This record gives sequence, C-alpha cells and structure tokens, in this order.
Amino acid sequence: MTAYSKIAAELPLPSGNFIDGRFQPCASGRTFETVNPYDGAVVAKLPASDTGDVDTAVASARKTFESGVWADMHPGARKEVLSELADLIMDNLQELAVMEALDAGKPITDCLHIDVPETATCIRWHGEVQDKLYDQIAPSAPDGLGLIVREPVGVVAAVLPWNFPLMMMAWKIGPALATGNSVVVKPAEQTSLTALRLAELAVAAGVPAGVLNVITGMGPDVGAPLGRHMNVDALTFTGSTSTGRLFLEYSAQSNLKEVCLEMGGKSAAVILSDARDIDRIAEVQANAIFWNMDENCTANSRIIVHEDHHDALIEAMVRQVSDWTPGNQLEAETRTGPLVSDTHFSKVLYLRLRFQGRI
Ligand code: NAD
Repeated sequence: MTAYSKIAAELPLPSGNFIDGRFQPCASGRTFETVNPYDGAVVAKLPASDTGDVDTAVASARKTFESGVWADMHPGARKEVLSELADLIMDNLQELAVMEALDAGKPITDCLHIDVPETATCIRWHGEVQDKLYDQIAPSAPDGLGLIVREPVGVVAAVLPWNFPLMMMAWKIGPALATGNSVVVKPAEQTSLTALRLAELAVAAGVPAGVLNVITGMGPDVGAPLGRHMNVDALTFTGSTSTGRLFLEYSAQSNLKEVCLEMGGKSAAVILSDARDIDRIAEVQANAIFWNMDENCTANSRIIVHEDHHDALIEAMVRQVSDWTPGNQLEAETRTGPLVSDTHFSKVLYLRLRFQGRI
C-alpha cells in the first residue's frame, strides 16, 4: 500500500448533499456508488437526487440570496471570506488532493501541485478583484447623473464535468460567489466528492449557509431540472457538446435563463518546415495529448506536420510514449492514471477502433 493509498483509506468522505450549510440525504434515500477508477473499488455512496431535491437546493439558494446576507455584504467583506476559503483549501491540500485523485483517477502529484493550488488561486483571485471593479461613464451634463451599477444575477446553477472537478468548480463558483450570487452546484456523478468537501470548507470560511449548495446525482435527474428551473437565473455548464445543446433547450422551455456553455474541443498543433528541435517538440506534444489521461478539452489530438519532419517526429513521439505508462494514481511517481470510468474507457476504445477503420 502506498503512503497516499493509506491516507485515502482513512479519509473521512462526504456522503450527503450539501444544502443549507449541512449534509443531508436526498428525499428518496436512494444512492449511487462512486468508484476508484484504478481498481473499481467503491469509494462512497452518494445521494441519487431528483427534481424534489433540486427544488430544495434552489429554494435554499433563493432564500439566502433574497435575504441579502451575502449579496448585500460589502465587497471587501466577501473578499475576506473568499480569501479565508482559499487559505482553508491550502490548509487541507493533502486531504483534497487525495480525495480528487481517488475519485477522478488523476495522478496525486498533479492534484498536489496543480489542481488544489489552482483552485485556491482561482477563489482568491476572484475574491481579490471584488473591491477593485471600477467603471467609466461618459461625462454627463450638470443636471444629469450617470452610474454603472453591478448587481448579482441571483441564483446561479453550475453543472460540472469530471476532468478537473475542483478547478472547474472554482472557475464557476469563484466569479459567482465573489459577485454576491447564491449557487447550486451539480458535480459530475463520477467525481462529486471534492465538490461536497469544498462547500463544507466554504461555510467554515464564513460563506453563509445556503449560499453554496451541492447536489449529487445523474444528469437527467439533477442537471435537467436545474436547467429547467424557473427560480434559477443563470446556468454555467462544462461538458459534452450534446449536453450543452440540451441546456439551451431547457432554458428556452423555462425562464430563458442565461446559459454559459463550455463544450468539447479538438485542438491541433501545426509544425512548420522551419521547426528545429524535433525532440523538444515531441516532448511538448506528448505532454499536450497525454497529460491528465488525455481528458482535457485542449488536448492536442491532431498534429499537422510538414512532410520534411514527419518521420523524425513519429520516431521522437514513439520514444516519448514510454514515459506515459498509466499506473496507480495514488503513487507519487505515476504520471498518468486510469481513465475516469469504464464507460469512458469503452467510448475512447470505440472511437479509436472506428478511426482506425477496424469497426
Ligand atoms: P456530459 O455532458 O455527459 O456531462 C457533463 C455534466 O452534464 C455532468 O454533470 C452530467 O451529469 C450532466 N449531464 C449529463 N446529461 C445531462 C442531461 N441530459 N441533462 C442535464 N445534465 C446532464 O459530459 P461527459 O460524458 O462527462 O464528457 C463527455 C465529453 O465532454 C468529453 O469527451 C469532452 O469532449 C467534453 N468535456 C469538455 C470539457 C471542457 O472543459 N470543455 C470538460 C469535460 C468534458
């Protein structure tokens, strides 16, 4: 057993939705399992929430928003709370990193050095900018008064993917909380643990209960009701293009809530005839595609290379590949872990065989 596996085995894990500042089961009591993608072992059972639970979470967010307990707080005071949250994230660096690695299959070293510190940095940055948002207006006449007033939207829903669970949550709750909104987060069903723990830390930092809620479950059961909710004012989503399209439909079917989408991408690298250091280029390209188990929306899945460099690049890339052997994500030396789930593994395998014309 590795040192980090031992920590993982003893880690207290969240097991309920986080609504109104406390963990609670979903109304039906139903659960689903979240597993360690390395060996398939069940890590925790989490609420399989549905529409009624979404209503509860949104009502909590709406109530706290309307109360003004967070929305009307001085921006400088919100800054202090978010700064405290960033500190708490770093105080709990090891716990959060192990939880993230265990649940998502991400290498522990990346979680310790990238995912958790970047989450803290993002929260701190958005907190810091809060009391420094200035605007300019055109000169007004002596009998006129021009003002720019920034107001929170209200209740913001955030639907997350599984590839950067903590960082994606920070990118969404950072700006939403800093500007005074109340938030309901639906993490990906494969990777919900750190979202729940982050919400708990937020309350410990001073975010009032009910301002940040996390509700777990499947996309159609939790994501769709959030997308269609009449009391959600804006929704931010990261994930597949097909699901992103659905959120535009949900908005059209309900209250025309503002929808912000970040969806699938295909990045290409272009290597021109005057490229010099092919070994270095291969090293960078291998990192660009293999880092984070290729589960990265900016993964360079295509290389467009000048024919003069084709053979040398292929040879150099083959040499690089041996450095990216997948392993146990809880071993410090592991550079790339397992794919996030069996389902995703099958999907990748299918697409690869299809690309190769073998099916
Ligand atoms: P997905 O779109 O199925 O899931 C993303 C989120 O949407 C999850 O929380 C999921 O529960 C929820 N969801 C799923 N179906 C839903 C529905 N019918 N209604 C409402 N919510 C629903 O994405 P995925 O399968 O996790 O990932 C597939 C692809 O998404 C990847 O291959 C990648 O291309 C893309 N992706 C992009 C990014 C990015 O940063 N742009 C990040 C992760 C994934």
